[in-house]
Amino acid sequence: MASLFRVPIENMRGVGEKRAKLYRKLGINSVGDLIRYYPRTYEDWSTPYTIADAPENTACCIKAAFDRSYSPVRLSGGRTLLKVSVTDGEDFMTITFFNQLYYYDKVRSGGEFLFYGVVKHYGEYFEMTSPAILDKTDQGIHPVYSLTAGLTSRMIEITMHQAMRMLPEKMNDPIPQNILDEYELCDLDFAIKNIHFPENPEAVEKAKKRLAFEEMLVLQLGMAKLKSGSRKETASLKIINDYTSEFTEILPYQLTGAQQRAISDCIQDMTLLSYPMNRLIQGDVGSGKTAVAAAVCYTAIKNGMQCAFMAPTEILAAQHYQALTELLKNSDIHISLLTGSVTPAKKRKIYQELESGEIDLVIGTHALISEQVHFRALGLVITDEQHRFGVAQRSALIAKGESPHILVMSATPIPRTLALMIFGDLDLSVLDEMPPGRQKVDTFLIDSEKRNRAYRFVKKHIDNGNQCYIVCPLVEQNESELQSAEEYIEKLHNTPLQSCRTGLLHGKMKAKEKDAVMTAFAAGDIDILVSTTVIEVGVNVPNAVIMMIENAERFGLSQLHQLRGRVGRGKTKSYCILVSDNDSDTSLERLGVMCKTNDGFKIADEDLRLRGPGDFFGSRQHGLPELKIASISSMDIVESTQDAARKILSSDPLLEEKEHRGLMFETKRLFEKVGGEQLQ
Ligand code: ADP
Ligand code: MG
Repeated sequence: MASLFRVPIENMRGVGEKRAKLYRKLGINSVGDLIRYYPRTYEDWSTPYTIADAPENTACCIKAAFDRSYSPVRLSGGRTLLKVSVTDGEDFMTITFFNQLYYYDKVRSGGEFLFYGVVKHYGEYFEMTSPAILDKTDQGIHPVYSLTAGLTSRMIEITMHQAMRMLPEKMNDPIPQNILDEYELCDLDFAIKNIHFPENPEAVEKAKKRLAFEEMLVLQLGMAKLKSGSRKETASLKIINDYTSEFTEILPYQLTGAQQRAISDCIQDMTLLSYPMNRLIQGDVGSGKTAVAAAVCYTAIKNGMQCAFMAPTEILAAQHYQALTELLKNSDIHISLLTGSVTPAKKRKIYQELESGEIDLVIGTHALISEQVHFRALGLVITDEQHRFGVAQRSALIAKGESPHILVMSATPIPRTLALMIFGDLDLSVLDEMPPGRQKVDTFLIDSEKRNRAYRFVKKHIDNGNQCYIVCPLVEQNESELQSAEEYIEKLHNTPLQSCRTGLLHGKMKAKEKDAVMTAFAAGDIDILVSTTVIEVGVNVPNAVIMMIENAERFGLSQLHQLRGRVGRGKTKSYCILVSDNDSDTSLERLGVMCKTNDGFKIADEDLRLRGPGDFFGSRQHGLPELKIASISSMDIVESTQDAARKILSSDPLLEEKEHRGLMFETKRLFEKVGGEQLQ
């Protein structure tokens, strides 16, 4: 099988240079690629219907013979309407072709054919338009492939038949026999033959199950290999002593159990491992990630390291700076803030103090990766909200130390199984416990008829000196009924909120403009911030107590939860108002989950259950290779392959053994497009 990946697709009969180009568009360069190009769906030509029994509105196969033809009709635009009548012996059906002279002549030449299409019933009269046609000997289940203009499924099918004949008698199965047995999977021969040319519908299911398992297994193995690959170097700076108890003495509150566990995970990594720590702290908004970061920095710094903490925006960097300065104020730790808006003179001073080692902890934006920044001993790099940073940016900061320890913080609750897959190269600590006394944000679902009442509710809170967020799904209005942020502000002039000071925030604004609006809002100079989802990440304005979300049905649950996390951060009781006129059961169920719970992990689980793992991530970039058949499609497969991968790697961590050679090959192939060189 592996050798077929070296046979170019041009070698196939009927595939010239031009058609090969089309194949390449589909990612098919070799015969091996072709064989691994699975059908999108199937057409069942195996059991033809009689004309009278054909289902309505569903394409099906009819076996019928030529009866008579009608004279061609010329249509405007140079098209020709061609009609024939066919019969199955009982009833008659009119077949209509547009310009398809070839098929018209073929049917007119007489005999029986298979026609595939939708049969329209008009009383006693039956009609099928532009059907696919095969010879009656071609009865069976036929594959339907995703196409590009110029290729048809039938062309691919014919070439695929050719490719099938090139397969060895017995293919090398990348999945070892014991795994096939344990998970009741068919072998590769059966799977490949039946995914393209199934004997029956059950065979398709078997083949799909096995191929999806294989793909997901290969993905899991690849992620695991990425992880071990990043662990070749040794950490230059190690932790000798744990100063956490000293840190807790200066902390104004007691750490939660989850915080303690996360901190000790980190300290252990930095003490015991021969390679640098590479850990993700996942915690819902408000779970206290800052204190964990502070504790880890504290011990790192007391062991002689410098720490760098990078946030995606100036505002977030400034907030972290304030919070960490406050937490560490009773220590002798020297902290600085470095962002783009720091004056040149101040910057020069910071550069100098970083190089001399005077600054222990620097917090900043991507200004931290500027060329002028040099550290004396950068031992720990922390990034906040990692999905906002490109890999390149993170690596640039990491490169400023010698294999520093890495800590990533994420406030996006992701179900554990998925997190393991996506952040496969990171170890995971979860803050699954909230600090005591955190208030619950009361959440309501209303329809737009109640919007004015909601406005009066908002007005009352603004009169009390509080602030409010209103989130809309779009920036500019389009034809649809979705609320756009820009128009929304205009409309507020005719509502109880007309006298309030409003600000607009959306992703199309420049970073500077966004920061200015956020700063004004944080300073209390804006009462109502009308925004798109750009405020999703980490902003802290404790005086804002209402989060109103328009067209709430348009958002993912996890996204709604992130938005809701912007309120309930101060002492005042806070509210989330979801506005939606969508009264479908699924929408009501999803939004109902928001009203019932404030627990981000529960919400993520529900989101996963309701939308399925494929949609869970939406368009969010997750850096996984593209899957052909598994598409993170079922939790079952994710879990069972995780299990299988663990077993395989425990006996052969580098996939070096002969029986795992096929898996190694497939792993490299899958990761080729997302930087597979790391897998060598
Ligand atoms: P996040 O995980 O969203 O970054 P923060 O670190 O901002 O959360 O913490 C949220 C709030 O909870 C802060 O006001 C912080 O002071 C407080 N906090 C964090 N840990 C504790 C704790 N163990 N006990 C009491 N309050 C805590
Ligand atoms: Mg935070």
